[in-house]
Amino acid sequence: MMMCKPISIQEPLTRDELLDWLREEDEARLSQLWARADAVRAENVGDQVHLRGLVEISNHCRRRCMYCGLRSENRRITRYRMTLGEVLACAHRAVALGYGTLVLQGGEDAELNVEFIADMVHQIKQETGLAVTLSLGERAPEELAAWKSAGADRYLLRFETSDKDLYRMIHPARPGQTLERIELLRSLQRLGYEAGSGIMVGIPGQTYESVADDILLFRELDLDMIGIGPYIPHPHTPLGSGEWRRDIDRADQVPGSERMVYKAIALARLMCPQANIPATTALATINRRNGRELGLMRGANVVMPNLTPPKYRALYEIYPDKACVNETAEECGGCLRRRIQSIGRSVGMGPGGRNRRRVEVS
Ligand code: SAH
Ligand code: SF4
Repeated sequence: MMMCKPISIQEPLTRDELLDWLREEDEARLSQLWARADAVRAENVGDQVHLRGLVEISNHCRRRCMYCGLRSENRRITRYRMTLGEVLACAHRAVALGYGTLVLQGGEDAELNVEFIADMVHQIKQETGLAVTLSLGERAPEELAAWKSAGADRYLLRFETSDKDLYRMIHPARPGQTLERIELLRSLQRLGYEAGSGIMVGIPGQTYESVADDILLFRELDLDMIGIGPYIPHPHTPLGSGEWRRDIDRADQVPGSERMVYKAIALARLMCPQANIPATTALATINRRNGRELGLMRGANVVMPNLTPPKYRALYEIYPDKACVNETAEECGGCLRRRIQSIGRSVGMGPGGRNRRRVEVS
């Protein structure tokens, strides 16, 4: 029987090896991990860093995620929803700035109904030809199918943590909801989307073991995109205010530290060599000076410059003090280009989708 194997034949790490790396604190040993992740990144996805223009189209949300500032019960934020015209203007700006992909992200907003988003995707594709990524929360399979038919290429839906008990506690289910995020990810794949997922690192109650399981799950799901960022407490949420907490042994608690995020990125790269992995804004938020660069040097290969109109930027407050909130789209793109060039990498052109390089072996 003919089998397909990735060109870079990488022995997957075991759960114990993942755990050892996650607990590793020795700088010299860690620099070996960074170097391995960087080499696997270079070999599998190359030196180009693709730019994905991010448009935060709505901060309305019907969910009550305990970690997020957009949760419906947070009455302290002013809510907004962008018009079709505003989003199309962002798409044209993405083209002008040389981006190949537009990411439409938002709260799980019921007013972003199936027709509105299908029409938006259709018009963006027709007018610009950009690759379109959606990240609009847990939506019905029929909606996801309609948006795929309208031309959407990719969908991002983080599973946040593979620890089912912790997940249930911090992510209350919606009445009438039938499918969980992992099942939705599988249906996205069946629909033909490139599927992305990911986690927050440092959620109160998150253990080292569960992060090792998260990384194994990235591989099992064969994800096309993997987003990893630190959990950043938001004071107007039950998790961020300390109102809610899960007591675990302190030695088991994963810190939401910069270094822990790099470890998770590097291990994700080793386990999923061909995935597109962003150096996230949350990472840049905890190290504004060079968090993005270090992410890109330790396994990441994508960045997401912000294209949201300035009047809405600060209102998309998933977590506080977000990096890159005060820059214009041009400044944000220019800053990221300079950072990419400063580490000897180049900016990717075109859509930069998952490259499934495979060789046939008997
Ligand atoms: N509503 C959509 C997309 C917007 S939220 C969804 O939930 O998928 C996008 C991501 O922001 C979430 O998946 C989560 O991982 C991250 N996020 C939310 N609150 C956060 C916090 N306090 N710190 C860091 N990341 C957070
Ligand atoms: Fe809504 Fe997403 Fe925030 Fe949850 S994480 S409250 S679904 S925006």
